[in-house]
Amino acid sequence: MAEPVFGKLALIGIGLIGSSIAHAARKNGLVREIAVQTRSQKTLDRAAELKLGDSYTLDPAEAAKDADLVIVCVPVGASEEVAKAIAPVLKPGAIVSDVGSVKMSVVRQMAGHLPANVHFVPAHPIAGTEHSGPDAGFAELFENRWCILTPPDGTDKTAVDRLAEFWTRIGAKVEVMSAEHHDLVLAITSHIPHLIAYNIVGTAADMEENVRQEVIKFSASGFRDFTRIAASDPTMWRDIFLHNREAVLEMLGRFSEDLTVLQRAIRNGDGDKLFDAFTRTRAIRRGIIEVGQDTAVPDFGRTPAAKGHGGTDTAE
Ligand code: NAP
Repeated sequence: MAEPVFGKLALIGIGLIGSSIAHAARKNGLVREIAVQTRSQKTLDRAAELKLGDSYTLDPAEAAKDADLVIVCVPVGASEEVAKAIAPVLKPGAIVSDVGSVKMSVVRQMAGHLPANVHFVPAHPIAGTEHSGPDAGFAELFENRWCILTPPDGTDKTAVDRLAEFWTRIGAKVEVMSAEHHDLVLAITSHIPHLIAYNIVGTAADMEENVRQEVIKFSASGFRDFTRIAASDPTMWRDIFLHNREAVLEMLGRFSEDLTVLQRAIRNGDGDKLFDAFTRTRAIRRGIIEVGQDTAVPDFGRTPAAKGHGGTDTAE
């Protein structure tokens, strides 16, 4: 096995993403030591039972001390508190990263607190399931998925390259872009689809009891897929919408305009308009399959035995 990329890795937060990184870093021999931190004793005990690390603490500073790489794996709204807690103990030259689904807000919350002698390289692995907590993690979560790095201007290139190597050896495909661009792209590819899912499932939940039962009974793949996405962690998604507000509102505005066009076409019986709109979107689907982001197998390749981890990919 190749040399580890880092000595000590500190994971601040050990839910789905933190525990998956722990499994993957261990499996691929990427670090010599893993320090695990989490907020609650219950999660900490579970992480220890699962043997996710070499040391366990409730104190972010204790975990981050002497670490060569610190990865913050908490809901994005908690980023600032973590940055404040770890800043005084960070080792000069250490790399501080995160996995948050929103990047501009994380940079705003963390950058100002971190000392000048560490390298801040925010990241977002675009991989997840609808499950949370340390039991949900598995080493293969990031395989063949994108991990986007959003280093602020002027970030040390060697630090970016080392973090890119870490994620590449975990099995991810790495791309570098600005935090602003990341947030705009993710608003339309992930955040708005989640909002639509939460909304449509909420609408069904508000229907009268007899209709609601039928919805559950006859849920075909369209609605069923929405319910899976709408089962995603409420804390994480609350924070995403609060912290990517501008980009989400911008994309939501465009979405509403396009929806109105379809609504009008239905009202006017304008079949050509609907047919054209639905034809255009098929090309996007073909493009996604061509670049390997999904499979063309019917029902998205889903078979009862296809996923061994009790979860399926989310739009994340
Ligand atoms: P998770 O399974 O719910 O785990 C969250 C972790 O953060 C736990 O260790 C939890 O501690 C801790 N935590 C929660 N609230 C906190 C707070 N206010 N202050 C300090 N620690 C707190 O979450 P996850 O799915 O791993 O998500 C973590 C991050 O990854 C989020 O920023 C999310 O945007 C990003 N992300 C998620 C996905 C996905 O699909 N899930 C994909 C890519 C990126 P306790 O359990 O001890 O309370």
